Amino acid sequence: MKISELSSSLNVSEMTIHRDLVPLIDAGIVEKSFGGVSLIEKQQVHNDHICTYCSSPINYQLRFQLILTNDRHEMTCCAHCGLLRYRELKENVVQAICYDFLRQTTLSAQLATYVMDTSLDISCCQPQVLSFQHEVDAKKFVTGFSGGVYSFSKAIETVFQRMKST
Ligand SMILES: [Zn+2]
Ligand SMILES: [Zn+2]
Repeated sequence: MKISELSSSLNVSEMTIHRDLVPLIDAGIVEKSFGGVSLIEKQQVHNDHICTYCSSPINYQLRFQLILTNDRHEMTCCAHCGLLRYRELKENVVQAICYDFLRQTTLSAQLATYVMDTSLDISCCQPQVLSFQHEVDAKKFVTGFSGGVYSFSKAIETVFQRMKST
């Protein structure tokens, strides 16, 4: 915005605008540009792109999200990490969200069906865990790519036990 525009729209002198801008400039909220001021874009924290559990880059097709108390928000690279993270934070999880592997629809992780030990390499964490909205899709998937079908709680325990034994 131009100082002159601010001055006329606020009906105060340009001197006043300049004076009032000083604390905003000092605080890093606005910056002076030629003949005016502009808002400084807030630095976005891009930790969304890194798995909170294993620090791998997130593949958006496999992601798993946890909404925690205090409005905290975590994203993991795949259901493998998502389930392990859920297990750690259980009491603080408000909502766990995963994505259907085939349809990319959002669904509650508790209601999803999980597939492990499939021969399809998804290039993420081992043992691999895929999530599906419909049990029937998961079953069809394992007829083609082999593997086992698990409920939410069974999948958590299975991943956890396997990680412990390796
Ligand atoms: Zn991960
Ligand atoms: Zn992963």
